[in-house]
Amino acid sequence: MRVAVFSTKPYVEEFLSAANPAFGHELVFFEARLSRETAALAEGFKTVCAFVNDQLDAEVLKELHKRGVRLVALRCAGVNHVDLAAAAQLGLTVMNVPGYSPYAVAEHAVGLILALNRKLNRAYNRVREGNFNIDGLMGFDLHGRTAGIVGTGKIGAVVARILTGFGCRVLAYDPNRNPDVEALGARYVTLQELHRESDIITLHCPLIPATRHLVNAECLKEVKRGVMIVNTSRGGLIDTTAVIEALKSGQVGYLGLDVYEEEAELFFEDLSNYVLQDDVFARLLTFPNVIITGHQAFFTRDAVAEIARSTLQNIHDFEQRRTTVRMVRLDRFRKP
Ligand code: NAD
Repeated sequence: MRVAVFSTKPYVEEFLSAANPAFGHELVFFEARLSRETAALAEGFKTVCAFVNDQLDAEVLKELHKRGVRLVALRCAGVNHVDLAAAAQLGLTVMNVPGYSPYAVAEHAVGLILALNRKLNRAYNRVREGNFNIDGLMGFDLHGRTAGIVGTGKIGAVVARILTGFGCRVLAYDPNRNPDVEALGARYVTLQELHRESDIITLHCPLIPATRHLVNAECLKEVKRGVMIVNTSRGGLIDTTAVIEALKSGQVGYLGLDVYEEEAELFFEDLSNYVLQDDVFARLLTFPNVIITGHQAFFTRDAVAEIARSTLQNIHDFEQRRTTVRMVRLDRFRKP
């Protein structure tokens, strides 16, 4: 199958090309992000391969369909950036790669927790400058602290296992209980209880209408003063303006982000020669107790290799007209 690969980076081309001999697709790589301006590049392709910040709204999907595209093969787990109703109306198939490596994301979330707690970013800079003063770098033992996990699917469950290993008391909130998480000794509670009791809150649920701004001004009133919040899921889970106010007042003591509401304009590009235009993001960067990484939680060689293999397998399955679990369910959007 001829595939138009958007948002290509050197590692995307390297891993997709390495996995492709087993499938024999014709991969054409475009550096451009998929958008209304670039959708025309897909002319004559039956498949587009897209990533987290590619634009897949109704207008772009319509344009892709007009140019012959029938499959949107996402090389990511989240589908929040795809207008699924529009895809269903157009008869497009959307496939994703859920659960390629929950360890990659879970380990990054725990990495943020450790780095924030022990201020490793600041310690690194001090030592490099010959400043061996440890004043201001004091952390706390994770052992015995309460960690609240919001969303206990594949990634949340691995986080629960790691934090249990540290000796944390683990609380969980998820409309669907995971027996593996309960078996670890974690306790399912209401979201309010989780907010009130947790020293650390880490988000592992998808971005859907019900979870947009799950962390907002209201809930920030009920968290423990000085709480640590970590988000490696999707930026839209946090109302950034509200969390900035809570950081200023000390209500939030630490913030670790791998994702940001308006990241599409920033992440994955080298913007170091440009003036930052996003004032909210710029404000976040001023806090000593905030660590931000640019959507790299998935970025281990194991995960990227599995993303490449699963994406190409999805395209192969579509070509063979096989129905698989990685086809995003669109039937609820189709007109009867
Ligand atoms: P998953 O589907 O296995 O688990 C998601 C869990 O969230 C499910 O158990 C579901 O019941 C729960 N959930 C749904 N609605 C909820 C709500 N309102 N409140 C609390 N929980 C709710 O997904 P996963 O593989 O564990 O991935 C979780 C998220 O991580 C993805 O949605 C994706 O956005 C994000 N992700 C980020 C990266 C990264 O590089 N930063 C990489 C992969 C995935």
